[in-house]
Amino acid sequence: MAKGNSSTEHTNHSEVGFSTRAVHAGQEPDKVTGAVIPPISLSTTFKQPAAGEHLGFDYSRSGNPTRQVFEKAVAALEKGKYGLAFSSGSATTASIVQSLGADSHVISVNDVYGGTYRYFTKVASQFGISTDFVDMYDPNNIERYFKPNTKLVWIETPTNPTLRLVDIRAIAKRVHNHGAMLVVDNTFLSPYFQNPLELGADVVIHSVTKYINGHSDVVMGIAVTNNEDFYNKLKFMQNSFGAVPSPFDCYLARCVPFLRVFHCLQGILYDVINNNSRLLHRRGLMTLEVRMKAHASNAMTIARFLEKHRYINEVIYPGLPSHPQHELAQRQQKGFGGMLSFRMKGTLANVNAFLSQLQYITLAESLGGVESLIEVPAVMTHGSISTEDRALLGITDTLVRFSVGIENVEDLMKDLDQALEHAYVSELKH
Ligand SMILES: *Cc1c(COP(=O)(O)O)cnc(C)c1O
Repeated sequence: MAKGNSSTEHTNHSEVGFSTRAVHAGQEPDKVTGAVIPPISLSTTFKQPAAGEHLGFDYSRSGNPTRQVFEKAVAALEKGKYGLAFSSGSATTASIVQSLGADSHVISVNDVYGGTYRYFTKVASQFGISTDFVDMYDPNNIERYFKPNTKLVWIETPTNPTLRLVDIRAIAKRVHNHGAMLVVDNTFLSPYFQNPLELGADVVIHSVTKYINGHSDVVMGIAVTNNEDFYNKLKFMQNSFGAVPSPFDCYLARCVPFLRVFHCLQGILYDVINNNSRLLHRRGLMTLEVRMKAHASNAMTIARFLEKHRYINEVIYPGLPSHPQHELAQRQQKGFGGMLSFRMKGTLANVNAFLSQLQYITLAESLGGVESLIEVPAVMTHGSISTEDRALLGITDTLVRFSVGIENVEDLMKDLDQALEHAYVSELKH
């Protein structure tokens, strides 16, 4: 087959660069019209040539062309064979864990995402699935938690909000020695900065809501694996639970904005003056590489800036040599990502004064969007954890979590600086 016409379906995407995969994997021009971007396939049902036969799709919960494009694309970025999308990151977690069946045991990293903790302790427990939460800073810690019915080990790295790392390779080896499976929630770094399947994980999951979609307007999740048996089991769960994303959300998370025509016209204009104009045509997965580079570069600059700031006690960012696991971050990650946390001097009153003064950085939960978002875990995302457990995890009242956006970094630093100055000046007045 001539090279220029080779179908992307049959191309070995593992050999090409990240952005090439992000733009092309899973996607072929429409067979009927030649449309470069596959149309959104909203139909819930598909005409069958004969009873009991179909052309790949029969009912949209079981399989949908727009969803399939997205699943294949993320699988290619994670260097996995199979992708399965769900209506949220949380639905992905629930579908995986519930596929284990009753009388199963799970070992989870102790500072796991709050919603995952809630699912393990309040929901999975009701279906006969028990969970131990373990500090995995030292991978050997997990050894004594394995039981004959341990089916799964669940980790995140870096964790939220204290950005502690877990050594994926070291954990994978121990998990496989015990005949269990390793799931890595890779939401924080995105497939651009970390590929857990390459490090020995069996399944990688994402809250697509965060970096993969990247524009804070879609809630979705995805799981990727190379294990065919597990894929078939999870596909069965996807169809049985029915927690599938809408074709429209798959389309948004994959690529193209509203107002495409408008943007095309705008693009032609910008083409003349600005080589980056193509970015205006794309969103979601297709721009993951350029977004992640910008997030990480801004985060590194801001981490260094805050580390020297007189009102900051500590900056936690795996890219800083001061991070206790900086060496591990260099070894298992391809970059350091866009999430950082810092501890302010003073009290929660200072933190509140600081937050009230920010101009461009928005006080809100969630992360991974192009806009900078900041939050106080102790009273927001992690408020439901007991004070003692928060203390054990290092989630103090003055710990601030920052999802660094892709705005101009000078503007972000100015914004932080003026708000920090305000936070302590106002205290003197009281
Ligand atoms: C947000 C998040 C989730 C849950 O995803 P939803 O799409 O909100 O259900 C899971 N893990 C991590 C690390 C997250 O940040």
